[in-house]
Amino acid sequence: MMERHKVPPHPENFAIWYTYVAGRNPELTAAIEEILRSRQNFTAEVNERLYERFAVFGQDRAELREVGLRVEEAVGRVLDFLGQANEDAAGYGAALESFSGRLIGDADPGHLVEAVSTILAETKTMVEMNLQLEQRLENSAGEIARLRNHLDDLKHEASTDALTQLANRKLFDQTLKQAAVEADDSGRPLGLLMIDIDLFKQFNDTYGHPLGDQILKLVARTLSETLGAGDTAARYGGEEFAVVLPGRSLEEAVAVAEELRTQVAGRRVTNRRTGQVLGQVTVSAGAATYAKGESLGSFVQRADDALYLAKSRGRNRVMSQSDLPPGAAPAATE
Ligand code: GH3
Ligand code: MG
Ligand code: MG
Repeated sequence: MMERHKVPPHPENFAIWYTYVAGRNPELTAAIEEILRSRQNFTAEVNERLYERFAVFGQDRAELREVGLRVEEAVGRVLDFLGQANEDAAGYGAALESFSGRLIGDADPGHLVEAVSTILAETKTMVEMNLQLEQRLENSAGEIARLRNHLDDLKHEASTDALTQLANRKLFDQTLKQAAVEADDSGRPLGLLMIDIDLFKQFNDTYGHPLGDQILKLVARTLSETLGAGDTAARYGGEEFAVVLPGRSLEEAVAVAEELRTQVAGRRVTNRRTGQVLGQVTVSAGAATYAKGESLGSFVQRADDALYLAKSRGRNRVMSQSDLPPGAAPAATE
């Protein structure tokens, strides 16, 4: 198809057309079909726009590419400097070479003085060139360091939820996947919590969205402060959080959830601007433990089912998979 539509075989274009043919993204399918229907050509610009619009993390990808290009340029410059320095050094070596041999056996002190001052001049030039090279290398190193920091920032941004600074959904998925692999390998337990703020819609309706955002931050901070270094708290969705607890049994996961629940409930929420006490915010939580080899979907679902049970039992409480009615916690399927 790409050949038929004269789409150059670049990795970016492949990614787009693969997604299209696999029918993985309905919006992309619609966009390509619209282009086909209107008999537009797949110009470089059209292809680029498709890529920026539909490639996963198009925004970051474009910025990453930009930084990548700049790193390449900076490294290219360093290589140029070094090549130049090599030539300079070779020239200097050749200059010295031309004197050696000539000086030995030449008894004329005038020749010697002349030779020494020429060598001195060559050496001075070489020193200057080296100083220049040092300066240029220093500049390039600085530039590369700046770019590296920028890349670190991009990487952080791509996996962090902007409001709460917790891991975002993407990082959560990665973390859980990795934790499950480690649990499969080591046989150690793996706990998971799903946490949801209680009656949050009501809070927003009463106090407004901006204050609601403050609550999200407050809950996120409570999670970060209460959890251990090996645990990962993530913003799973709007007012839902997920916590990955490597090495923790179901009982331990429930204990952590209980601790988080009391910590949140214990905070008195005030409007900092007016001093008005807004009362209590509570969360409900569901806890599950990983069954070796099971799909992550069913693992998350079980924690979610427990969370739903906590909601239906009155909220501000923790329920676990063992509280679920029999049959609700399916055995490992994969
Ligand atoms: P429940 O106890 O059953 O969870 O009730 P709830 O009101 O918390 O649940 P519901 O799903 O009905 O509403 C969730 C609310 O969360 C709706 C939405 O306004 C709010 N919410 C989701 N994301 C954000 C956000 O980023 N900021 C703010 N302020 N509110 C949000
Ligand atoms: Mg809620
Ligand atoms: Mg919810």
